[in-house]
Amino acid sequence: MLKRLRRRWQIIPTWIKVVPILALLAVLSAIHQSNIAHGSLLASSLHRLFFLPLFLASLLFGLRGGLICAALISLNFLPDILGYEGQALSQRLDILMEAALYFLTALITGIFVDRERREVMRLKRAENLALLGQAAAAVAHELKTPLVAIGGFAQRIYRDLEEGHPHREKLRIIVDQVAHMEQLLREMLDYSRPLELRLAAQPLNELVDEVISLCALLAQEAGIQLIKEADPDLDSQPMDGARMKQVILNLVQNAIQASPRGGRVRLSISQSPDWVQVEVADQGSGIPREHWDKLFFPFFTTKRGGTGLGLAISHKIVEAHGGTLELVKSNENGTTFRVVLPAKPLNHSPS
Ligand code: ADP
Repeated sequence: MLKRLRRRWQIIPTWIKVVPILALLAVLSAIHQSNIAHGSLLASSLHRLFFLPLFLASLLFGLRGGLICAALISLNFLPDILGYEGQALSQRLDILMEAALYFLTALITGIFVDRERREVMRLKRAENLALLGQAAAAVAHELKTPLVAIGGFAQRIYRDLEEGHPHREKLRIIVDQVAHMEQLLREMLDYSRPLELRLAAQPLNELVDEVISLCALLAQEAGIQLIKEADPDLDSQPMDGARMKQVILNLVQNAIQASPRGGRVRLSISQSPDWVQVEVADQGSGIPREHWDKLFFPFFTTKRGGTGLGLAISHKIVEAHGGTLELVKSNENGTTFRVVLPAKPLNHSPS
């Protein structure tokens, strides 16, 4: 019932919602301007009645609506504030305070309403994504087996065809595309499955070294220098080594892909008694600010052939470790991502 009412309310055009507020404001302003209410009970409660359209505007239109309404209400008091009718200074200050109170009320109510709306939107988006994830996982599962067969047969025929055969190049494209689709399906299933960590003491230093050697060829081809900065005496940390390697690998691959030829990708490891962190910094052209909120959402990608699942999976893995993965900085001089893990042992419960 409430949901139906809300849905109906949402399809009402904005101007229709504005009309009752403006009408109320007009009536109250007319009473204020006229002398009808002078000295009566209405005159003393009139100022409080102005809060009615103010709350309505804030609730319906958030901060912006509330502030506009406060400004319209305050127009009524402008002549008194400016002392056109010879009001004493204390009287003028009183009225000024009252106008300020309208703005303050609009500000507080508006901020709360806006925050509430953003939260509702976020939850709705998360709900949609969860549903989409379930559907995608089911489809991915069904597609995996036939795709593996297509890829396998295509690869076999490709190998059997002699160099220069007119169909060889076409088959190579099929093999590449199927490999890409298989990767997408693998990552989709990986993202949608519950994560079970196998925690063991792991030297983060060694893990980063492994990632560097895995990425060496990619970096060399792209003309990128990989640099590691770490204290050689770093302690071992309880973590799922394979999963954390996946996280750092993804960050480094993204950094290499974003960097210009001749650039550097820096991996810095540091620790304190409470946490251990890895930063991956590149010298690429940065991530536009409007993309920052979407980076960790599944399927957000700006790359041709990208899956948009690398950061989403990495985020999930780091969170399962009780840590954080965040974008620290991104501008025209480069981008830095940071993984922070708690230094104490974890009692992990699968997510
Ligand atoms: P994919 O690499 O498949 O696109 P990711 O989830 O790893 O998926 O990354 C999502 C998007 O985030 C990328 O398409 C890219 O736009 C942006 N991104 C990630 N890392 C960087 C980086 N170091 N520099 C610039 N953009 C980045």
